[in-house]
Amino acid sequence: MTHISEQDTAGWRIENTYLQLPDAFHDRAEPAAFPSPRVAIFNQHLAKQLGLDFTGHSSEDLARIFTGQALPPEMKPLAQAYAGHQFGSFTMLGDGRAILLGEHRTPAGQLVDVQLKGAGRTRFSRGGDGLAAIGPMLREYIISEAMAALGIPTTRSLAVVETGQPVYRSTTLRGAVLTRVAASHLRVGTFEYAARLRDPSLLQTLADYALERHCPEHATSSDKYLDFFRTVMERQAALIAQWQMVGFIHGVMNTDNMAISGETIDYGPCAFMDSYDPQTVFSSIDRGGRYAYRNQPLIAQWNLARLAETLLTLLHPDIDQAMNLARGVLEQFTKSYEHHWLTGMRKKIGLQSPEPDDLALINSLLELMHQQRADFTNTFRDLSSNKMLQSKQYQTPEFQSWFAQWQQRLQQENQPLEVIHARMRSVNPAVIPRNHRVEEALASAQEQNDLSALQRLLSVLNEPFKERDDIIPYQEPSPCGVGYQTFCGT
Ligand code: AMP
Ligand code: MG
Repeated sequence: MTHISEQDTAGWRIENTYLQLPDAFHDRAEPAAFPSPRVAIFNQHLAKQLGLDFTGHSSEDLARIFTGQALPPEMKPLAQAYAGHQFGSFTMLGDGRAILLGEHRTPAGQLVDVQLKGAGRTRFSRGGDGLAAIGPMLREYIISEAMAALGIPTTRSLAVVETGQPVYRSTTLRGAVLTRVAASHLRVGTFEYAARLRDPSLLQTLADYALERHCPEHATSSDKYLDFFRTVMERQAALIAQWQMVGFIHGVMNTDNMAISGETIDYGPCAFMDSYDPQTVFSSIDRGGRYAYRNQPLIAQWNLARLAETLLTLLHPDIDQAMNLARGVLEQFTKSYEHHWLTGMRKKIGLQSPEPDDLALINSLLELMHQQRADFTNTFRDLSSNKMLQSKQYQTPEFQSWFAQWQQRLQQENQPLEVIHARMRSVNPAVIPRNHRVEEALASAQEQNDLSALQRLLSVLNEPFKERDDIIPYQEPSPCGVGYQTFCGT
């Protein structure tokens, strides 16, 4: 690794706050050498938002920076230590194929992690090679940017750069490095790791760091650790409700993949549901359906219970009282999630003023959609327009009866139908990353080295609520319907 000159920094404002945590939390890491890296995709729009300007840089410069070959001198790359419950079992983990370059201060004053994924081995790589293949890195780029455009908190993707080196999996693949930008990479698993160290001062240092970074408004409160736990709980409740609202299935909600910031993190075998079925699972490794669509809120609460266990000693010196405090917050998760879900679902069907029967109305729609295997995204979008009355699939007597009830309920809103429809179109996306469209774009990127389909897909996903002329092919449900499988991109 070399350093680039100071004139060349593109506007980086790097801090190394994580490095200042005790050594137990990290290990210095050096990106592997990649002699001929090549940019596959670079997110100019995100760079601009971050206050970074690479217009004076050649594509070769970018490729070197975003594989860690030439870095600004302030960057002090490291790998983070963490643990996690994977499918319910505790394991010590750590960044096995991710390297944090440092934190960057954005023009808005936010501190964000800049991390390379797939840039080589670290102390935590265990038997892995620390590398990543182009397909899964482009996939993370597409889905994370689609989530951001949908307004869902998420880590972002700044670049995917091909390393020029092979990666050996069941076949030989092209290697790539993804640059991920995140509010932080603190996870529930980071706290599980700290608790395992059995040194209360280390745990407290981590909690204080997380408070400062993610809930500075509580950093000086007398109940700051309880406030911290409540804030994390509330952010997760809101996040999971947003996932449910667009049919997003994370696929591996292990505690190491749940961010303290409340951002969606670690896009592995995730996918969006086509036809509505609460039991939908896509991940090939999730045989028991632990992380099925309908289980996501329960699993989030389970993960938060693991976080609570690590915080007990900070909550109260008396263990029983600490448990009561933690339990109190955990129990609020259900209420908070249900509130976000109901508010969101109301908006999806155009209701602003709450009425007691709304939940029943929403549930009967979902039941019908389940029975008829209706497409989740398209049904809500169709409800926002008069298409509803034309399409054949909505002509069943059951649906017509629901529709009549809904029309009656809408009258209580006292607003013109066009206004209600327009509002609905601002929350019900016209396009989501359909599995077959994502696969198609990845296939031509991987097999023909042609990123044009991927660029077109990204352009559509970037404006998910807009009725553009070119979106129709992106609205069609997958022709293979059920049975789509996703694989962990390791
Ligand atoms: P994930 O499934 O991506 O959440 O990863 C789980 C754990 O495996 C994390 O500690 C990763 O850093 C590690 N890991 C995943 N892939 C690799 C790889 N190719 N080499 C080394 N470690 C890896
Ligand atoms: Mg992970």
